[in-house]
Amino acid sequence: MSDHFDLVVIGGGPGGYSGALYGASAGLKVALVEKDALGGTCLNRGCIPAKAFLETAAVKRHVDHADDFGIDSGKASVNFARTQERKQGIVAGLVGGIAAMCKQRKVEVFNGVGSLSAGKTVNVAMNDGSSASITGDFVMLASGSVPRLIPNFERGGPIMTSDEVLDLDVVPARVAVIGGGAIGCEFASTFADLGAEVTILEGLPKILPGLDKDMAKVVERSFKKKKIAIRTGVMVNGHTPNASGGTTVHYGDSESVEVDAVVVSVGRRPYADQLGLDGTGVVVDERGFVQVDEYCRTGETGVYAVGDLINTPQLAHVGYAEAILVVKDLLGESPMPVMYDRVPWAIYSHPEVAWAGPGEQEAKEAGHDVVVSKHPFKFNSRAQILGETEGFVKVIAKKRPDGTAGQVLGVHMVGPWVTEQLSGGYLAVNWEASVDEIAEFIQPHPSLSELFGETVLAMTGRSFNG
Ligand SMILES: Cc1cc2nc3c(=O)[nH]c(=O)nc-3n(C[C@H](O)[C@H](O)[C@H](O)COP(=O)(O)OP(=O)(O)OC[C@H]3O[C@@H](n4cnc5c(N)ncnc54)[C@H](O)[C@@H]3O)c2cc1C
Repeated sequence: MSDHFDLVVIGGGPGGYSGALYGASAGLKVALVEKDALGGTCLNRGCIPAKAFLETAAVKRHVDHADDFGIDSGKASVNFARTQERKQGIVAGLVGGIAAMCKQRKVEVFNGVGSLSAGKTVNVAMNDGSSASITGDFVMLASGSVPRLIPNFERGGPIMTSDEVLDLDVVPARVAVIGGGAIGCEFASTFADLGAEVTILEGLPKILPGLDKDMAKVVERSFKKKKIAIRTGVMVNGHTPNASGGTTVHYGDSESVEVDAVVVSVGRRPYADQLGLDGTGVVVDERGFVQVDEYCRTGETGVYAVGDLINTPQLAHVGYAEAILVVKDLLGESPMPVMYDRVPWAIYSHPEVAWAGPGEQEAKEAGHDVVVSKHPFKFNSRAQILGETEGFVKVIAKKRPDGTAGQVLGVHMVGPWVTEQLSGGYLAVNWEASVDEIAEFIQPHPSLSELFGETVLAMTGRSFNG
């Protein structure tokens, strides 16, 4: 193995592996150091397995409603061990794909813990017990994040973080989800659709607190229809395990809920714990994030940091964007910094949520005079064919001096397959397109994406459907 590279990447998650592969495709000689499985949190303990579970929940929902479509299928039962096996197959395939791409692009993978020291030297404690010392002209830190924990809820038995939940091979009958953010809501939605009794315990006044209010209301209403109990404005205090392997979670003043599993989903903390960094100018702030400028450059010349390790949206695709930015920057290509206020967001619960740009309130708070248009899936033909009519598309545009709608600021969607429909809205926001320009685009019929077209068309002052 060589010991000097153009680029050494520490961490093989979305930020790290995309940086390594993109860098190699630009002709760089790259080393990738990963202590665990390639693919990081996203592939092994995050996005992909969580969505595989959600898909099983969707299949169960479809079978439960098959009768509505004229299919007599009987009552569905869940074999979650099979779900787990299927999910593992998907993960293994994708992890293998990254390894194959690394091989094809001659990225040298070092299986071990990498720590950075002076002179852009990365010492690797290899998993086989040996050690390696490699250097790079440039180094990219991409060591990601781990679940945050809360006092009195140590992992073990019924107390789980996303890491352990994704290894389950049975559906717990009663689940408490602590934290009503995106990840918590995805788990709540999955387990409720699979037949569990679910309680969400959220400290803030609302679940999904960052969301446009109208969208959060749709999710909340839909969750209540699934019989998910939502307790907001409550803090959990502790839990009392019982003899049958479950536990009673205590919250609020003196309330409690008895469950078989607790999913602690209160966010993720950056994981710089094993990066060393002695003798370098890399600065880690008091919350554990590596400090960077808008080009992801750290305090040490030639050393960059990307992904969940830095204080930017904790999304796999943000890690990809930052990795591309870094490679372009180190190649001297003068890239544009990532515009974090316009990145796409997606929550894959049922109903799904997706958005780019500010919500109505946020746009107003930023000082914009806005025009807002909101159209429901209820009247969309494809949504009716799918039997999925809840939700809407909401577009927020700048108001022109004459009162008409101008530049599209935000596109927010809740409802069927909106995570797949956002791309048109994302382009509109990021191209800084006006409502009139977007209204020119033809959407296929019948399609869910017609609703975005309709919503924008209505903002021109003329429309088909109001
Ligand atoms: C349940 C769940 C669902 C999610 N769903 C989504 C989603 O739908 N969409 C989305 O965009 N995001 C989602 N995320 C977030 C997403 O997984 C993260 O934003 C993303 O994985 C961050 O990528 P990263 O490369 O920065 O870090 P990570 O993916 O955490 O990867 C870091 C890697 O670095 C390795 N490492 C750490 N330290 C060292 C070291 N010193 N030496 C060697 N290796 C090291 C780790 O083993 C790990 O493999 C989800 C997360 C969870 C938990």
